Parts: sequence; C-alpha cells; structure tokens
Amino acid sequence: VRLGKPFWEELRFLEASTRYSAAELEELQNDRLRKLIVTAYRNVPYYRDIFDNLKLEPGDIRSAADLAKLPVLEKRTVAHEGERMFNRALPESQRIHGHTSGSTGTSLRLIYDHVAMGAEFATVWRMRRRYGCDINRWHATFAGRVVVPLDQAGPPFHRTNYPQRQVLFSLYHLKPDTVEHYLRALQKRPFEFYSGYPSSLDALIGAAAKAGLTPPGPSKAIFTSSESLLLWQRRQLEEAFRVPVYDRYGCAEFCVSFTVCPQGRYHLDSEFSITEVEPLVENADIVQGPLLCTGLMNHAMPFIRYRVGDVATIAKTPCSCGNPSLSALAIDGRSEDFVLTHDGVRLGRLDHLFKDMYAIRESQILQDRPGRMKIRIVRAPEYGMADEEQLLRECSKRMGGNMDVELDYVDSIPRNAAGKFRAVINTIPDAQRYA
Ligand SMILES: [Zn+2]
Repeated sequence: VRLGKPFWEELRFLEASTRYSAAELEELQNDRLRKLIVTAYRNVPYYRDIFDNLKLEPGDIRSAADLAKLPVLEKRTVAHEGERMFNRALPESQRIHGHTSGSTGTSLRLIYDHVAMGAEFATVWRMRRRYGCDINRWHATFAGRVVVPLDQAGPPFHRTNYPQRQVLFSLYHLKPDTVEHYLRALQKRPFEFYSGYPSSLDALIGAAAKAGLTPPGPSKAIFTSSESLLLWQRRQLEEAFRVPVYDRYGCAEFCVSFTVCPQGRYHLDSEFSITEVEPLVENADIVQGPLLCTGLMNHAMPFIRYRVGDVATIAKTPCSCGNPSLSALAIDGRSEDFVLTHDGVRLGRLDHLFKDMYAIRESQILQDRPGRMKIRIVRAPEYGMADEEQLLRECSKRMGGNMDVELDYVDSIPRNAAGKFRAVINTIPDAQRYA
C-alpha cells in the first residue's frame, strides 16, 4: 500500500517540480489550494459551517493570500469537532486511519486518503534521493514503534521488512547489555542510511559507548524527523556515524513538510503545503512566530490554517542553495518548549546552552514556574567541575539574574509514552505562559 501508484506519480512529479521557478511553484500551490477548498466546502461539515457563517464561497479563496479570510484552526477545535472534520464523501474503504502521538496530552483521530499517503512519502523520498539514497536499498529505522513484543527477552530486537529493504529496530529493548545484538544486525547488511528520532539514534550511540563498543555507520546519510534536532544531538550523530545528518520537519496531520538543504536551511515543500507565520519577532532578515499550516494533499481531512504548535524562524533572504521555496533557519519544537524568565521573557533555542559541551551526553530542561528551571543532565565519564561551571556561566549569560537554575544529575532521561524525547518540559499552565 505504502509505495503504491499515488506515491510513484507524486514522486515523479516532485522531482520535475524541483526545477520550477518561484512563480511556477506559487501557481501550483494555488491550484492545489483551490481544489482543497472545494472539497472542504462540499464535503467537510466543519468547513461548510465556517464558510456559511462567514458568507464565503469556494471562489473567495483563490490564493494563499486569501487564506486570511478563514479562521485559524486550533488543535482543541479538531478534537472537539471529531468526525465533522472528515470528508463525508470518502467511503470507509478508502480511509486510512491514524492519530497524533499525543505528546501534549491530547491525541487526535486522523484519516488520510491514498493520495495524501503517497504524497507524504514522496516528499520524504525526494529528499533522500537528493542525497544519493534510493528506494529498494537497505536502510535501518530507529523510531518509537513497537517492533518486537515488549516482554521478549532475547534477540533479535529488530524486524526485517524485505519488500522495502528496511530493518526496524526496537528502542524498548536497547540497553548496554543488549546493544551488541543491534550492532551485529547493523553490520550484517550494506545500509545506505539510518532514519529515526534524533534521541533514538543518540540512545544507540549511548548504549554502545557504555558497553565499550562503536556502532557502524551507514554509507550515505542519517535522516532524522519527529523531534527537534538539537545541536548536541547533531554533533554526536555526525561524530559517531561519520556521515551527514539531514532533518525533516513534518507532522501526523500531513499538513506541512520542510526538508533540509545542503546549506542547512529547512525548505518548505511548496507542492505539499502552504505555511503562514504569526509574527512575534520581526526584523530585516527574519520573521519568527507560530506556524499556521495548510496541507494541500489530504482531501480526506483538510487542515487549513492549522496552528501546529511549533515556532518557525523564516528567512527573508533567498537561500544560496538555489531552491526558491520559502526557507526557515530553524523550527523550534513546540511552543511549550520555551521557558519563562522572572521578568516574563520567553526563551527558546535552549539547546544552545549546551553548545560545545562534549561531556554532556543528554540534557532536559524542566520548568514548573516562571524564573526557575531544572536541568537534568546525563554526564559522560569525563564530565567535571569545569563543565558545571561552564554550563552555569552560559545560563547566566543568556538569562542573567532572571532565572534560578538547578542542576540534577541523572543516569538516564525518560521518553514520553510515544517514545519521544522532549528537550524542554514546561508545565506552567497555558494561560500563565501566554499572559
Ligand atoms: Zn537552501
């Protein structure tokens, strides 16, 4: 199902549209947008009501600029509306069911059609092929999925998908005393790339190091997704596996896709989505704020101006790689991945605190009230007093006297229920955070 006809058609199309000019891309986006709007109006009860209440018709939304006529879609609205978000004309037999991972406590029910599924994977494979990797070559995946029974005590801790030449590894069984089975499986095949959560690949390196072993690298690249790729993680992955790391930003709602270019910028896959930014910070070079995403491909469940919960720093200058599509310098985790200082300033990009701190294996920031934060740290053996002093110095450089910082040394940092790593856990209530 996964690599069926819609996938191949869209991949072929995307590899041709890679050569489009900015104007051609815009025309394509607007064409796809108009088709989506017609579906939303005709077949999605929630959107029909929105259009009727605003006295709008599909013809009123002709381009990305017209989207401002429609309201922003919040996650809680999607949760509340339930099946009224679904395309009622799509028969059950053609619906593919899914859900969000619920890292913030709410899990949304989702449906996709086959075209959307194909398009999502086509954006992934266009990126991989750009960096010399190809379909039907061996690759290893380290993600949150349960691939072998949780109570299984002995190897193998992976499952092999022969048709797609993919070996899926279990994260739940990865420990210093099981890691050699993983490394042996990685040595067994000529893997072109590894893919997965940054924290999962990092856990492999960590478990291997504790066992005194070095994991073999793939021949071409590492592809990360699903979590913010932190500076220290990128550094550790590139050092350990000796290949470049390329990140992709997408979401389970299939309403956005950004892929990293050789210059390190995140480029919007304009054929797949339209994004807007609610500006919080703006100057001559960048505009930064929450992302609003419109997914152009999923007619089973349209997401239009959806506040996905992440903050992007969009560049106003063109990228030197030559790709004319919109580019972001950074997409920072969820908006709850910020901390609040005593004086009410919101600070993000906290992974910069750990820049060049090679003796820190993992770190996580916890905040439960403004002006105070705790940093959990997993130390490497060489960690010493000088490192602690350097870290506290960095904190005071960035936050001055406006933050009390407590360090908490731990053996490991737990993942959430979906197996994902969270760099910042901010439990200050929303109302207070945005006050
Ligand atoms: Zn670029």
